[in-house]
Amino acid sequence: MVECEKCGGEFLYGVEEQRSQEEMGFEAEPPQRCPSCREEVEPEPGLRPGVVKWYSDEKAYGFIMQQNGSDIFFHRTGVQGDVSLVTPEGTPVWYQMKQTDKGPQAYDVHKRE
Ligand SMILES: [Zn+2]
Repeated sequence: MVECEKCGGEFLYGVEEQRSQEEMGFEAEPPQRCPSCREEVEPEPGLRPGVVKWYSDEKAYGFIMQQNGSDIFFHRTGVQGDVSLVTPEGTPVWYQMKQTDKGPQAYDVHKRE
């Protein structure tokens, strides 16, 4: 269990979360905030590294695995330039994050070289 730095509540930092961070080449570090506090935070501007988890051409959206191990939604319109460059599973990307009515969303998604 990890203590949230914001609300002080305890939350689970699971083995799976650690493993997925490591698989992505990130350091396995517990997040500082519990999942609900993480979502409340207005994200800082700036590019973040992530990896495309999946993308559906049909639905025109997908998910990026973030450095903290959780997923973030992205829509085709949030991709910068050629969508096909970033949509294969496992593509390393940069993205920015914003809050929407439906929760956090990635935009300015582009390939990380
Ligand atoms: Zn919290």
